[in-house]
Amino acid sequence: MHHIPSLVPKIFHQMVWHFSREQNNIYLTFDDGPVPGVTDFVLEELGLRNMKATFFMVGDNVRKFPDLARKVVEEGHGLGNHTFSHMNGFQNSAERYLNDIACCQREIIRATGENPLIFRPPYGKITKKQFQLTAKKYKLIMWDVISGDYDQHQSPQKCLKKSIKYSQNGSIVLFHDQQKTEAVIRAVLPEYLDYIKRSGFQTCIL
Ligand SMILES: [Zn+2]
Repeated sequence: MHHIPSLVPKIFHQMVWHFSREQNNIYLTFDDGPVPGVTDFVLEELGLRNMKATFFMVGDNVRKFPDLARKVVEEGHGLGNHTFSHMNGFQNSAERYLNDIACCQREIIRATGENPLIFRPPYGKITKKQFQLTAKKYKLIMWDVISGDYDQHQSPQKCLKKSIKYSQNGSIVLFHDQQKTEAVIRAVLPEYLDYIKRSGFQTCIL
């Protein structure tokens, strides 16, 4: 369940993979939105249970759907930067990478007025140089529970079971609010959130 991207150990330890195991806080995160339909569904399900989450947004989606980005903030959720074009760090120079992050940040500020200082690299792929430059401004947030909601070979039931099994105090849980994961999110999220609530976890934003 611990999905470890191929990272240099030195930067691996400077990223945030989870929080204190002593407190019953859990950190739900949704990557790649905002996307009409699926993001609305996630907001609805969180709202029904009075839960909070953090959305790592793709700048191009914020540009296309600024009202939806604003709705996320208005409902009290956290925001993070996930690059403008969902850029793969391993396939791009540090300069291009930093520029893509800056573009995303501009769209987020324009749409929401927020200036988030957290970043998650798409695919978990970031070079040492890109990391060092990005870390000057942003805290890099990874995850310790990967739902696998994007995995076409995994049934929604398996996704739910695994997400429940590995969620613990301080966990950062990775979901996606995008088109490819919409069916799985609709099938899995309500039951997963009910489990989190039943188990006494507090949902926190980053
Ligand atoms: Zn992503």
